[in-house]
Amino acid sequence: MSTIDELVNKYQKKQQRLQIRFYYDLGKLQNECKHEKTRWMQEIRANGSFKENLYKRCFVCGATVETLEAPNSFKEQLLNKFDSEVESKKSSDNAEKTAH
Ligand SMILES: [Zn+2]
Repeated sequence: MSTIDELVNKYQKKQQRLQIRFYYDLGKLQNECKHEKTRWMQEIRANGSFKENLYKRCFVCGATVETLEAPNSFKEQLLNKFDSEVESKKSSDNAEKTAH
């Protein structure tokens, strides 16, 4: 085995051990977390279609606390609501800019 292969091997093993420790610590964190800071989320593919169900994600430990199967019409409503919130934020930002 060449020196470079030995080095790659050595660090791959270290990486695997670290990864195991990471998942162990993550599991511990998620078990102990009270999931107090959560948000419902929705992932969208690059082509604009919805990825999966809605899911409630904890921002402290990253766990998915709950999922909700929702029809596309419901998700569409959410996106429309989000759109209009962003638009109103934009126009209030613009109004603030012109005021100064
Ligand atoms: Zn949590």
